[in-house]
Amino acid sequence: MNKTVFITGGSRGIGAFAVQEFSRQGYNVAFTYFKSKEKAKELESATGAFGIFCDVSKSDSVNDATRLATERFGGIDVLISNAGIDEFALFTDISDEMWHKMLDTNLSSAFYASRAVLPQMISRKSGVIINVSSMWGQVGASCETHYSVSKAGMIGLTKALAKEVGPSGIRVNCVCPGVIDTEMNAHLSSEDKEQLINDTPLGKIGKCEDVVNALIFLSEDKSSFITGQIFGVNGGYII
Ligand code: NDP
Repeated sequence: MNKTVFITGGSRGIGAFAVQEFSRQGYNVAFTYFKSKEKAKELESATGAFGIFCDVSKSDSVNDATRLATERFGGIDVLISNAGIDEFALFTDISDEMWHKMLDTNLSSAFYASRAVLPQMISRKSGVIINVSSMWGQVGASCETHYSVSKAGMIGLTKALAKEVGPSGIRVNCVCPGVIDTEMNAHLSSEDKEQLINDTPLGKIGKCEDVVNALIFLSEDKSSFITGQIFGVNGGYII
């Protein structure tokens, strides 16, 4: 039987590429969208994947989405917590509202999704969870403290949860992209991009497929002895 993957933030960028690739590899794919309904519908028609409206920052919404995916496909084998936002702000300009929105969208979402799928994974004694963090969660980024904290939290979540659910046959890993060419980086000027390329040992900006290849590897049995690990996909930008 085909495995089922549930991908949060599948309407655009890395998540949308993951929806396409996992579908191509024969997985049943359920993905969430929030604001990009039109793009989600196009992706559904192009891939046959199942798009579900969900605000990942709300636990009820995440519970409903995972329930719908489970009903549709009979279970969730792989969870990829990918949805996220970023924002630039001086630390002293970060309001309570900005802080909580960032933490709820990027970090609580991964907690809600893992908590929602774990009971079925534990009862089957198998499952894979992958959190999409960021290299800024590993080293911190100036003027992105709330983003960096949310992504560092995903690394802690990955490590602690991997220890807790490993005995139940569930693997939990984390992928930390570097600079990847998506709308999240649309604000970068060509000078900024040039600087980033110069600072990257491999001399280029990453593509969605670079991240998705890692997600696919970590979803499959080829990585069956890998858990609790943090994988940089950053061209060597941080080592
Ligand atoms: P995009 O901005 O291209 O896409 C973000 C996705 O997250 C969209 O599908 C969006 O859905 C979804 N999303 C945002 N807020 C919510 C919400 N409240 N509820 C549900 N879905 C939501 O981002 P990327 O593809 O570039 O990034 C994907 C992940 O990779 C993020 O977690 C990001 O932090 C991480 N990352 C990206 C890097 C990069 O350089 N691009 C570098 C390091 C990490 P919708 O449009 O439907 O609202």
